[in-house]
Amino acid sequence: MERYILVVVLCFAWTHQAFSDGHDKWDYVLGGEHGPSKWGGDCQTGKKQTPIDIESIKTTWKKDLGTPTLTNYNEMPNVNFTAKNNGHTLTISFPEDVYNVSGIGLTGVYTTVQFHLHWGSTNMKGSEHYLDGKQYAAELHFVSYNTKYANLSMAVTQPDGLAVLGVFMMVEGDNNTNYNFLKYAKDVIGKDTDKEGIAAFKLKGMLPTDLSKFFRYSGSLTTPDCFESVTWTVFKDPVKISEYQMGLLRNLNDSNGVKMVDNFRPLLPVNDRTVYSSFNISGQGATPPPTSEGPTADATTVSMSAALFLLMLVAALFMH
Ligand SMILES: [Zn+2]
Repeated sequence: MERYILVVVLCFAWTHQAFSDGHDKWDYVLGGEHGPSKWGGDCQTGKKQTPIDIESIKTTWKKDLGTPTLTNYNEMPNVNFTAKNNGHTLTISFPEDVYNVSGIGLTGVYTTVQFHLHWGSTNMKGSEHYLDGKQYAAELHFVSYNTKYANLSMAVTQPDGLAVLGVFMMVEGDNNTNYNFLKYAKDVIGKDTDKEGIAAFKLKGMLPTDLSKFFRYSGSLTTPDCFESVTWTVFKDPVKISEYQMGLLRNLNDSNGVKMVDNFRPLLPVNDRTVYSSFNISGQGATPPPTSEGPTADATTVSMSAALFLLMLVAALFMH
């Protein structure tokens, strides 16, 4: 009997270990043992995966999306932020029910719990989404969950569970003071280190100025297990940070103990999804609106010539 219990305990310990490893061990090494093509769950089988190349000309204009209602994004409430290096990215997290997102076609109120970033080893790559075939140097993600669910872990598997705001970033010019928080990267260079007690700063300034122009589609988390629970809002306009600020991110160490760069998931197919735009893109849609009278006039001329030719032919026949 005792021997039996020992075997059961050992088996449990082994499977638990294996399960934990399966979840923890993933990275961005293309073609590697734990790289994106080996990620489990919906990452392998899902048909609504993220990221995608947003081809603006193929998007559908949805006029009534408006601009997001952002609660407290332009305030500095009396709460603390935590910066963390989780081995895959830099996250800044904050208490629930302080920062909220609603409107822009979202059903209900979503509360923002963290933001994090994806970036490249050079400025030519780094963002997860592409826009018209262009990859940006980095991309910021504000992660919010639907408050109809009790907490983030309940929401993360629901089709309407999460709303993520995506912001393209490029490297140009001086330090962007709205991104001063990047200095905290220096305090969390090692994997699984964090810095607590960071005073709240304004989130609004991290977003582009024009919040009325964005793309919208149904997608997934871009890390295992890639749950298809995200309503994506990707703003059209990028924000700018300096080369120095980008360098702070590139100096972090990842889960393999090497420099944390190129932590973006490769593109996935759009499949049968509709990607919406909140604004009118010139030339959008299968039938572009007429831009001049030219083609119409030409067509009229051709049909009139044909009618005239037919009339002359009939007249010629009668003459005989
Ligand atoms: Zn992300």
